[in-house]
Amino acid sequence: MYDVNSKCADDFINHEEILETLAYADENKENAELIDSIIEKAKKRKGLTHREASVLLACPIEEKNQEIYKLAEQIKKDFYGNRIVMFAPLYLSNYCINGCTYCPYHAKNKHIPRKQLSQDEIRREVIALQDMGHKRLALEAGEDPVRNTMDYYLESIQTIYSIKHKNGAIRRVNINIAATTVDNYRLLKEAGIGTYILFQETYHKESYLELHPTGPKHDYNYHTEAMDRAMEGGIDDVGLGVLFGLDKYRYEFAGLLMHAEHLEAAFGVGPHTISVPRLKHADDINPEEFDNGIDDETFLKIIACIRIAVPYTGMIISTRENKSCRERALHLGISQISGGSRTSVGGYYEPEPEEESSEQFDVSDNRTLDEVVRWLMQMDYIPSFCTACYREGRTGDRFMSLCKSGQIQNCCHPNALMTLKEYLMDYASPETKAIGDKLIDKEVLNVPNEKVRKVVLENLRLIEQDNRRDFRF
Ligand code: SAM
Repeated sequence: MYDVNSKCADDFINHEEILETLAYADENKENAELIDSIIEKAKKRKGLTHREASVLLACPIEEKNQEIYKLAEQIKKDFYGNRIVMFAPLYLSNYCINGCTYCPYHAKNKHIPRKQLSQDEIRREVIALQDMGHKRLALEAGEDPVRNTMDYYLESIQTIYSIKHKNGAIRRVNINIAATTVDNYRLLKEAGIGTYILFQETYHKESYLELHPTGPKHDYNYHTEAMDRAMEGGIDDVGLGVLFGLDKYRYEFAGLLMHAEHLEAAFGVGPHTISVPRLKHADDINPEEFDNGIDDETFLKIIACIRIAVPYTGMIISTRENKSCRERALHLGISQISGGSRTSVGGYYEPEPEEESSEQFDVSDNRTLDEVVRWLMQMDYIPSFCTACYREGRTGDRFMSLCKSGQIQNCCHPNALMTLKEYLMDYASPETKAIGDKLIDKEVLNVPNEKVRKVVLENLRLIEQDNRRDFRF
């Protein structure tokens, strides 16, 4: 039985409810009156149900789709302005005992070099990331309870936060590791993680069991209920995602929104972020062997529909996507992107020779962080290295109320400008710095509150002239 409040995965991601949703969407996908009423509801910026959003996703009417894209772009602007948060993944270990059929870290892969970073190696990686200008990381690891222990993660997080190299600092560490216990989530929270990220991969239980034939990840319910345990352990910023390409995208889309609805119903706070990874070529993985790949148009429509269905949720796109796809996705709702990423273990300090690659997947955007930052600014986006909300305790529902209060422009906007200024002073190429300084001069005028604007101008001066860092609202 479908029950949004239930703590059992089979109830809150209920198969029959998804099938009924897809049937309803099919029946109504050309029902112009209903589609108009759903778009009108979405304009109120309070979100949509999985059923309503599924109708929009299924709709083939070009004119209505254009309206959906326009609205997605507007909602993105209203909630996130033109800021784009920057981050980088840091692979700690690719040891893994699972059998995921789409991931090259699967246990049967005997030729991929297996690595786990020591604390000294983490230090080298983090200094390389700081020297690029990164302030926010997403830690990544395979599942290996003997090697990749909770103690290892906790020590690694402590190491990362402790490294202060020149003006560099990692100020927010998010983590994407296997589903674990409430006690372990509590430990991660105490260690100061930002978001706990776990991709569902697929919400289709039967496919899930086939795609994860062996290892602890085979347990669909334990995996799907992980965010409930994370929230019980005190982590109120959680990141959802599915790996598009594994099962039918419309099924995944409905499941993803049902998951968000469940967290909101059961804990009063929806997901902090949603990621939209697509299956990529990697070592012994050929995406062509999976039947459910989606083209760019479908992918972008999914992004737009997620944007209007959950307006308060950040959306993340990685370097799995190339420059032109990322550019289009930014307009439709993406608020966070990675730059200069390496998906190998230890790849920032020392790029690996191709024949000994420990990469998790091929990267399609190989530009440096400086190039990505410049590119964003040339499109009038503000690359933001801000980590203030989490450090000021604005997580979970407190972050959501900031979004809802409309104070973002007096808070996130200045923080973005000040952290961008730090980046320009410490890491940018002369060309990027020139573009960035102009952008900041223009954007500082868009801080609505006069008092706040004065403080921002003074802080920008202190960053430039007195080498001061880490101002935040
Ligand atoms: N091992 C962790 C777990 O159990 O969920 C997650 C960390 S894994 C390093 C990060 C994510 O990469 C996975 O959740 C999966 O969605 C994605 N991934 C795996 N293989 C991929 C591939 N071939 N192409 C694109 N993404 C992939």
